[in-house]
Amino acid sequence: MSRFVCDVMQLNIDTFIEHPGKRFPVDVSLDSKRATEMSENVTFLEDVMVSGEAYVQLTTLYLDTEIHTIVEQPCRRCLEPVREEVNLSERFRINIPEGERSVDLVVRILGFVTAALDPHPLCRPDCRGLCPVCGINLNEHPDHVCQEEREDHVRLRDFLK
Ligand SMILES: [Zn+2]
Ligand SMILES: [Zn+2]
Repeated sequence: MSRFVCDVMQLNIDTFIEHPGKRFPVDVSLDSKRATEMSENVTFLEDVMVSGEAYVQLTTLYLDTEIHTIVEQPCRRCLEPVREEVNLSERFRINIPEGERSVDLVVRILGFVTAALDPHPLCRPDCRGLCPVCGINLNEHPDHVCQEEREDHVRLRDFLK
């Protein structure tokens, strides 16, 4: 399973190795479904597109890339999906394992995307979140007053005695 996923972002480097130091275009993508499977709490709405240039020097592949995708994460207060567009410029390098003719970019690319995401996404700055007692969405029910609140507090206090 994970092998199959990784194969999607394999970059063949035969040409790079034959012409050390020469820059060649790079254009790879990762399917949105596979990117979602490999991520926690992040849904990819678009494929992860990676374009740019790369070259090989000795046993290192140097990349200069633009990364683009669109993701959704749950709002940290109400759990509604929050959409976020990701546009990154990343320069990085990868050591080429001896004898390898291709390099897998998927872990590095997804790492850049994950690191760039808002760690505490909000659907809107004044999101009211969920009722702590019954879980109803307070953005949709701004006048909600939970009937069970008092009862539950009493019960919890009794329990702690
Ligand atoms: Zn929210
Ligand atoms: Zn409630």
